[in-house]
Amino acid sequence: MTDLVPVSTFPLYDLHSHTRVSDGQLTPEALVLRAAERQVSVLAITDHDTIAGIAPARLAIIKHQLPLCLVAGVEISSLWDNHEIHIVGLGVDTDSVPLTSFLQRQMEFRFDRARQIALRLEKAHITGALEGALSLAAGGAVTRAHFARFLIEHGKADSMAQVFKKYLSRGKTGYVPPQWCTIAESVEAIHLGGGRAVLAHPGRYGLSAKWLKRLIADFAACGGDAMEVAQCQQSFNEKTQLAQYALTHGLAASQGSDFHQPCAWIDLGKKLWLPGGVEAIWIRYPHLIAQPL
Ligand code: AMP
Ligand code: MN
Ligand code: MN
Ligand code: MN
Repeated sequence: MTDLVPVSTFPLYDLHSHTRVSDGQLTPEALVLRAAERQVSVLAITDHDTIAGIAPARLAIIKHQLPLCLVAGVEISSLWDNHEIHIVGLGVDTDSVPLTSFLQRQMEFRFDRARQIALRLEKAHITGALEGALSLAAGGAVTRAHFARFLIEHGKADSMAQVFKKYLSRGKTGYVPPQWCTIAESVEAIHLGGGRAVLAHPGRYGLSAKWLKRLIADFAACGGDAMEVAQCQQSFNEKTQLAQYALTHGLAASQGSDFHQPCAWIDLGKKLWLPGGVEAIWIRYPHLIAQPL
């Protein structure tokens, strides 16, 4: 059994967040300002299949002299047994040629899928979705969240939850089965880029306990290094169960808000703590996850 008390909440680590270069709402500059304001000491920016937010975030930290360590990260969309599984890479080298060419391919998959999503919506008499989504993505990674915003703006639904349910989730009008790489390929790309691979939000894939255990075992067998154990919104039971799985498979533990935009229940650094007994990723890999002074 894992210990039920937090190891420590200071320094505060938030190792999963998004900016406008994928489907986050804030610019990299606004994100690091918010993180510092919220007393986060170490922040990882982990946009979907792109590292384009890292350089502007680094510049903003210098410009504003923020007391914030930045971890270069990415969240890679992968396929496992027909499920879309996200693998976060932490401490990656943003100049790595194998990693950047791998991410370039992911971006091409994203663009191809966006074209297919738009074609399917067009058949349902919704026109202009490709231009709309690309314009909202503004040169960054185009995601289903951009299609969702386009559809809401055009009065097709009232909320993100509703628009995904109605148009963008599996089996719906605007759903296109994605061509993501395998988990093994994601882990390899992250390792080639000098980073560590983290299984993102394991509790959010809608898997039964049996399948979740299988996923974690497969991820560990592929050379995965860590798994997210703590998020902002999570039952105590889920956290302790995930901690137990991390221990069983020898994975380090990570934590992150998965912040996309300001909202009442998810925010940078909010309610993030690891239960005792697990090994935090910043303890196991101190040279990769920047340490606050
Ligand atoms: P993609 O990676 O292009 O398939 O887009 C998935 C993104 O859409 C996720 O990273 C979430 O940010 C967002 N998303 C997925 N499902 C939902 C949902 N039900 N409600 C709101 N946002 C969602
Ligand atoms: Mn997202
Ligand atoms: Mn994710
Ligand atoms: Mn995310």
